[in-house]
Amino acid sequence: MTPLLSALSDICRKYPLKEKVLITPDYRLGREVLQALSRSGEPWVNFTLATASSLASEAAEKIITEKKLKRVSGPGIMAIVEDVFYGLADSGKLGYFEKHETNSGIINALTGVIMELRTKGISPSAIKGEYLTNADKARDIDLIFSEYEKRLDEKKLIDKAGLTLIALEGLKDLPSRQRRYIIFSRYYMSGLEREFIERLAGKDLEIISDGPVFGIKEPKGLWGKQTKGDFKDSSALAWVYDTRKASKAAAGGDLELFASRGSREEVKEVFRRMALRDISLDDAEIVYPDSGEYRREIMLYSEKLACPVTFSEGIPAMVTGPFRAVRCFLDWIKHDFWEIYLRHALASGDIKTDKNNDGRDLTSLGHLLKISGVGWSRPRYEKVLGKKEAEFLKKAEKPYSDEEADNHDGYLKMAADIGMLRQICTGLLALVPEPGDDGLVRLKDMCAGVSDFLRQYTVSRSSYDSDFVEEALKRSAAIGDLGVDRMTLSEAADKLLGTFFTVNVNPSEPRPGHLHVSHYKHGARSARGNIFFVGLDEMRFPGRRTEDPVLLDSERERISPALEVSSDGIRKNIYDMASALSGTRGSVTASFSMYDIREERNVFPSSLMLQLYRLKTSRPDADYEDLLGSIIKGEGSLGIERGEAPLDITEMWIKKLSRGGVLKDGTEAVKNIYPCIAEGLKAEEARESAEFTEYDGNLVVTGGELDPRESGGIVLSCSKLEKAAGCPFRYFISNVLCVDKPEETNKDVTSWLNAMQKGSLLHEVFETFTAEMREKGEGLSALDEKETAEKILVSKAEKYREEIPPSNDMVYLAELSVMRKDLDVFLLTNRKLRTSPVHEELEFGTGGKDPVKIFLPGGKHFFLRGIIDRLDKVSGHEYHVWDYKTGSAYKYERRQYLAGGEQFQHALYASAAETILKETGEDECPVVTKSGYILASEKASGSGKGAIFARDPSRKHIWQEALETLLGIISLGGFLKDPGNSCSFCDYAAMCGGKNEKERAALKKSSGHPAMELWRKLKDYE
Ligand code: SF4
Repeated sequence: MTPLLSALSDICRKYPLKEKVLITPDYRLGREVLQALSRSGEPWVNFTLATASSLASEAAEKIITEKKLKRVSGPGIMAIVEDVFYGLADSGKLGYFEKHETNSGIINALTGVIMELRTKGISPSAIKGEYLTNADKARDIDLIFSEYEKRLDEKKLIDKAGLTLIALEGLKDLPSRQRRYIIFSRYYMSGLEREFIERLAGKDLEIISDGPVFGIKEPKGLWGKQTKGDFKDSSALAWVYDTRKASKAAAGGDLELFASRGSREEVKEVFRRMALRDISLDDAEIVYPDSGEYRREIMLYSEKLACPVTFSEGIPAMVTGPFRAVRCFLDWIKHDFWEIYLRHALASGDIKTDKNNDGRDLTSLGHLLKISGVGWSRPRYEKVLGKKEAEFLKKAEKPYSDEEADNHDGYLKMAADIGMLRQICTGLLALVPEPGDDGLVRLKDMCAGVSDFLRQYTVSRSSYDSDFVEEALKRSAAIGDLGVDRMTLSEAADKLLGTFFTVNVNPSEPRPGHLHVSHYKHGARSARGNIFFVGLDEMRFPGRRTEDPVLLDSERERISPALEVSSDGIRKNIYDMASALSGTRGSVTASFSMYDIREERNVFPSSLMLQLYRLKTSRPDADYEDLLGSIIKGEGSLGIERGEAPLDITEMWIKKLSRGGVLKDGTEAVKNIYPCIAEGLKAEEARESAEFTEYDGNLVVTGGELDPRESGGIVLSCSKLEKAAGCPFRYFISNVLCVDKPEETNKDVTSWLNAMQKGSLLHEVFETFTAEMREKGEGLSALDEKETAEKILVSKAEKYREEIPPSNDMVYLAELSVMRKDLDVFLLTNRKLRTSPVHEELEFGTGGKDPVKIFLPGGKHFFLRGIIDRLDKVSGHEYHVWDYKTGSAYKYERRQYLAGGEQFQHALYASAAETILKETGEDECPVVTKSGYILASEKASGSGKGAIFARDPSRKHIWQEALETLLGIISLGGFLKDPGNSCSFCDYAAMCGGKNEKERAALKKSSGHPAMELWRKLKDYE
């Protein structure tokens, strides 16, 4: 029997029929101990459980009823402190503490300090300026503390300290009860609470302790003193911190130590040892020291093995589906409704909606949202999704091409999916209150919306999930009732998220047939025969000594000796663990993980592990080297390494696939069973070779199926051709395999438009400007032109702003000012040209216009489509063709003509312009004498290269020959890779390997394939 149960047993025998009140920090712990007492065979009757608060409520009941007071706790208290803090900060009354965008940390700390001061019976006036390092801080704490107490009085609320004060007052009227009070020695108490228990119980107080602890000082607030008598029947573990005095006979005992290579492995090893020793689940308990990691690992592994488990603290909310869902929802609200958060919620399957009554899986809607172009901002959901839905419906009803007609059903399905997504988004947005003119919302409304979300949209798959929803609803209601009235959406979301994070779900006392898991502070009391203490590394135990952020240790010491300092916390941790160890009977196993997988670093054992090793080996002088040498190489090695039976399916496979600790080569077996993997391995092998194979882009071509010069060949654009000349493999992925990177609207708080959007906006401005100038006629002054251009820019920018909202006004104005400078460069260049366009944005092969035939020397041709930015008439039949470029000038050099095939556009557009002018009858013998690029951006002009890059289109023999070479590579199907600078901007880098492929690509180039020769030739065209 453990010392705790033995003490209880003595009390039961001494007072068999008398009412016995076990004062416990929490009811579950009380039930656990009484259950253990029953299992030990000790009969007992007339036990009741009570906490210090429940006893105080009993004593204070009459006064509370008379005064019509209401209890407030946890989130409610924090909400009041926050309200007080915001009120004082907003009215400029605080001199030390400042209000920031996120204040949850400081509110938490202030709440903790106020609660501590109140329970110790310390009043606001005791916080004197001379006690603190900063007089303003003392004044602020006094203000916040006093205002908090005032609010409680006004609202007739009582917190724990208030309740205890009333209870002390009510003690005098409390009828005498014939009770024995029993309290755990480690139910640390001081101040008002201790005074209340001492006065209530008087001489009728019994103190029970888990086990004696030798060699360390007792912590503040402990009940009772250790006596000499405690040495009797002590476990060897009572001397863990006094190993020199540990009796040789007692030392050693049933104590095992081991180390693992990660917390997951450690948990696995515990299960393995239980299996090997044939320990039944309900004769074992795992005790952990951290806040979440071990509970999560134990939960996951026990689920894998289908082992029932009870967690005394419950499990962290973050492992539940509803928490993940509400977290995404709140993050979505907080980040201006950025679709990425909602997408994650949809894709995770953690949310449901009555819109998917047909049981449709919502996960695919996440992808649809990603590519929808919604991006962020509340109004865009209806606007963008509504527009997209209408577009698909229109395509289904009124197809413009055979292709569209063939895809009728596909368009209808897309419209239906987008419609469903729109409804879901509308429903979710309706839960979020609209900010008023002051940009604020009522916290109560926000809490109501989040509660509706929890009820309507979350999926509960287990009791953990439903437990979380229940607790979250309670907390949400408490915050809504007591919190600050108005705040920003982001603040409200933060507040709710902060409180949901601290929820622990489904706490339970030990149950028959279940493994029990507990924290060391209250653990190891189940009286089970096998206790596993895990996580005993230096990071987790005894914990870090951290000072309170509001009241420093030195300040606390000056205010009152009753206040705890940081070393008190560490002392308690060490004492609690030692007491828990001392209180065990039976087998004890202690372990730690030597490696932190997440942080990727080695971890050292805690000093406790060393003490346990010293105790076990009766070597008080042993050091860490001895410990590590022993537990890593010797008896502490892991079961799987010792060749023991596998515990789960993964280990079963590892065991089957290994011999003598070395994994067998299962490649052939896997290839035989999985033909797709076999194909993949074959491809990888081929890519590794020096040959230019089909896996490198060398296609087996029959006839002229890829040749754009064959009749029925595909319509090309200049950008496609130039990309093929930059890297044929990219052309292959994009135009032969037709693989597109999904479009995504990314939110960047530091910029508004991406390069392509900015280019489109400027193109529209230039087009509108030159068209207006043509109407107004010549002779406008530079100032008039600037005014006109400015108006056009602002109106176009506003239109874009509606479609693509900037993250804030500053970003918008900054980008507008850069575009103004680009516009200045354009206006200057436009005047320098001394020609005016007769056509802007002249389309061919798009917008219902026919493509243009481009003839090649052998008489063959191919079809080209494109848009000529401007076609200027010089005089008579002479024309110039220009293309605006709004990026940098790095690709453009004066002496270059074709840039290895990456600049065909000037030549092809000149040819296309002549054809169009002739075919439309606008000019029967047009000649384009100049064609080139206008670099209309401040960035490009700053390079010093100038803004106008004109080329001579009459050098037909050169560009036609180069074009034939490029088309030759395409028609041969020799799509080699050319990794280089363009890989940095290539959409396919992730699937092709990008620059890392440089060496392999160079190897392939010496393969002798005809495409390689053509490639070298193409690159010679400067
Ligand atoms: S990443 Fe580089 S090598 Fe690969 S396709 Fe793109 S440009 Fe070519």
